[in-house]
Parts: sequence; C-alpha cells; structure tokens
Amino acid sequence: MLLPAAKRILLKLSGEVLMGEAGFGIDPAYVMRLAEEVKAARETGLEICLVIGGGNIFRGMAGAAQGMDRAQADYMGMLATVMNALAMQSALEQIGVDTRVQSAIQMDQVCEPVIRRRAERHLQKGRIVIFAAGVGAPYFTTDSGAALRAAEMRCDALLKGTSVDGVYDSDPKRNASATRYDTVSYDQVLADNLKVMDASAVALCRDNDIPLVVFSIREKGNVARVLAGEGVQTIVK
Ligand code: UDP
Repeated sequence: MLLPAAKRILLKLSGEVLMGEAGFGIDPAYVMRLAEEVKAARETGLEICLVIGGGNIFRGMAGAAQGMDRAQADYMGMLATVMNALAMQSALEQIGVDTRVQSAIQMDQVCEPVIRRRAERHLQKGRIVIFAAGVGAPYFTTDSGAALRAAEMRCDALLKGTSVDGVYDSDPKRNASATRYDTVSYDQVLADNLKVMDASAVALCRDNDIPLVVFSIREKGNVARVLAGEGVQTIVK
C-alpha cells in the first residue's frame, strides 16, 4: 500500500479547482471546502506540503497566444499562484491550521522565501507549507514546481488533485472510449505523451522515485479516500 504508509506528501491542486463552479478566479467557499480536506489529512499525522497552480487566474501560454511576451506572461502566471496560495493560507488559518507560504519569487512583505531547512522546521512543527510561484522561472509550470519541491522536501508521494480522475490513454473529454489506467509507468507517460503533467515534472518524479497519484479533487472526500488507498485514481510509478 503506497499512500497509507506515507509520512510526508506533496499535494498539488490545479488552480482551476479553486474557482469552484465559476469560470474564473477564486471561490472562497470552495477554497474552504478544500482547506477542510487538507486539515483532515493533516489530522491523521501526515506532513503536508501544498502547491497550488494559477490557471484559474492566468496562464503564460494563454497570454503568449494573444501576443504577449511569453516570459513576461509566465511571471504573471507565477504571481497568480501566489494569490491562490494566500487564499488557501487564509482558509486554512480560519479553521485553525498553522500554515506558511514560501514563494520562489521573493516578496518579503507577503510571505517567506523558499528556504528548505525552514520549510523542514515548519513541517516538524505540524504546519502546512504552501510553496508558491512554481520553480520561480518562466517556461515552467506549477507541476514542475510541485515535482521539484516534492524531491527537495523528500516527500513520499506527489498527489495531483485535478478535475479528471486519473490518467487516460486518450483525452476522456474527446474520446468516449478512453480508458483510465490504474497504474502506469513514468516512461509510458512520457513515451505516449499522456497529458498528466508536463514532461519535465514527470521526469523529475521518475529520476527521484516519487510516485505520482492523479485523482479528482472535485468529489468531496477524495483526499482522504486517496490517502487511504481507496477511490478512483491513477498511480504513476
Ligand atoms: N509558471 C511559470 N513557472 C513556474 C510555475 C508557473 O512560468 O515555475 C506560470 C506559467 O505561466 C503557468 C502559470 O504560472 O501557466 C500558472 O501555473 P499552472 O499553469 O501550472 O497552473 P495550473 O494549471 O496548475 O492551474
């Protein structure tokens, strides 16, 4: 059993799940629902690192497609992830969970910079550490940021909570006969270009032996289910 044995995990939430049913931005009620699930996971004794995407606010690729300079647009995307991290911190602290935000882009008035040893200390004290601004460089995504932090914080697994319930052999939104994998290897994900995470993130997980669990965060209670080794998911390992 992979997850029931895990002591420290990194949970990556796509930015789009923070907008709930809305088409854009942050739905505070939905963020609170996610925070409750994170709190419940924390209460099992698990050490939790969080990474939250920014796609509910801005994606660099979308800006570039409209003629913006790609790197500039990516920096805007990274700032979006900081806003999401602050929203999640606020929700977690409202329900009594000590949380620290560490950003890969320094902004001292807002949050801490990423300092691994300090993050380690926070986790030992039972705090949740939210890593914001991805890897702090354009041309990357928060998936890569999540894989990087999972490696440096020596997490036992990377959980990707998103709007689909796992990894499929083709796009389930376009192909009704798409089949979901229960488990799949990193190499197959890369060779078949399966859209689970960007290739650099998958390669980083592979090279550091970090199992990747993809599941839908849209169904309430799924974090607990996945952590118990139950529910619908795909394990990439
Ligand atoms: N981004 C970046 N470098 C990073 C992390 C994020 O440039 O290390 C930018 C990139 O433009 C990306 C945006 O921030 O599109 C939002 O992150 P992402 O698309 O990963 O969010 P998600 O899809 O998880 O909501």
